[in-house]
Amino acid sequence: MPRPDYRALLATAVEEARLGLAEGGIPIGAALFASDGTLLGRGRNRRVQEGDPSVHGETDAFRKAGRQRSYRDTIMVTTLSPCWYCSGLVKQFGIGTVVMGESVNFQGGHGWLREQGVDIVDLEDPECIALLRDWIAANPSIWNEDIGEDDCPHG
Ligand SMILES: [Zn+2]
Repeated sequence: MPRPDYRALLATAVEEARLGLAEGGIPIGAALFASDGTLLGRGRNRRVQEGDPSVHGETDAFRKAGRQRSYRDTIMVTTLSPCWYCSGLVKQFGIGTVVMGESVNFQGGHGWLREQGVDIVDLEDPECIALLRDWIAANPSIWNEDIGEDDCPHG
């Protein structure tokens, strides 16, 4: 089966990130796809919107996808390198592929996931990089809260 166009899949995650931005939230989106590119679930970080720090783009997309028999052939597409929490989810459920929009603004567990045999693709997408970079510059405090850092704005 031919590999789906990862950039086309990323567009859904970016759409979610932009929805989050419009809601006043952290612009990180994600979507879970079947191996043929069929959308299973999509979501976005809603820490700010719902006051729930456990709703990350990946966890939201994962929950929206409902129960799947196997995750081996699924593709988790996210606008940003998955944090340790979401990397744990990928490992726990055996998601076979992670496609990330960027790993410039933040690097989570994708290197570790690669060592675990997960196929990791970094699209180095300029739109994803700019979207989050600008948001972090304007909201350093919320960002530090999201990544679990003490609130000491570094620049
Ligand atoms: Zn996460």
